[in-house]
Amino acid sequence: MLLLVDLDGVVYRGADPVPGVADVLAARAKAGDDIVYVTNNSMHYRADYVTRLSAMGAPIEPEHVVSSARATALYLQEHEPGIRRILVVGAGGLEREMRDVGLDVVTSGHAATRASQEAIDGYEAAGRPDAVVVGLDPQVTYMRIAVAADAIRAGARFIATNRDPVYPTERGLRPGSGSIVAAIEAACGVTPLSIGKPAPLLLEQAARVVGREAGDAVMIGDSLATDVAAARAVGARSVFMLTGVAGREQLDGLPPEERPTAVAANADELASVLEQLAADPGR
Ligand SMILES: [Mg+2]
Repeated sequence: MLLLVDLDGVVYRGADPVPGVADVLAARAKAGDDIVYVTNNSMHYRADYVTRLSAMGAPIEPEHVVSSARATALYLQEHEPGIRRILVVGAGGLEREMRDVGLDVVTSGHAATRASQEAIDGYEAAGRPDAVVVGLDPQVTYMRIAVAADAIRAGARFIATNRDPVYPTERGLRPGSGSIVAAIEAACGVTPLSIGKPAPLLLEQAARVVGREAGDAVMIGDSLATDVAAARAVGARSVFMLTGVAGREQLDGLPPEERPTAVAANADELASVLEQLAADPGR
């Protein structure tokens, strides 16, 4: 089986591992399953996850972590060969994923400084980029939003890593990529292509990393709105985990077509659900 596994709320919750989940995944990998981690988080480089996940005992190699940043890079490489120079509004991990696939990256911080000092618009200040790629930028400023909107208005493609409006932290909810995307969208009047869940592209790119089709996957996640919805968008089966942001009550009154294939409250239930799904690959 191909397992596409969400990270926060499934493998760990903030700094703490979810008990037993890493072991379940290790056993599945040993039995021959392909495991690819999929996260909407756009701030980190894929190799940054290796230490943390291996410390928890989860099966991990860097190529098998497909964040919304990595998925955006893979998507551009595969589908948009005409896009060479990009203006990035985002964190260091997003810039690094973009450079890794050979894109010429101009940071919004650099373009914002140039636009202010040289009295030129954001498109010129960014060196006339082909696209603007937006993720969560903890250093975002008014001028960074301004240069991104300028470039899109001048014809650069607008690509969002994801549209999550908020981002959970230990101190509560903070604005997510989607909040920054929404500000730029309002300023330029253009709707972006969005790569992350619930859109299908992240899961499609993740499946391709191991040479599989997303429709054959089982998506394991703790969010109905992103994980389960993305699984539905690609025709994959899904396991809704109650180990993260959501509880069982979210299933109440859900129309049948929006329900996950299975529900698991903990690692033991996940193990038995995966056994059942493996035994019945047809649906
Ligand atoms: Mg999650």
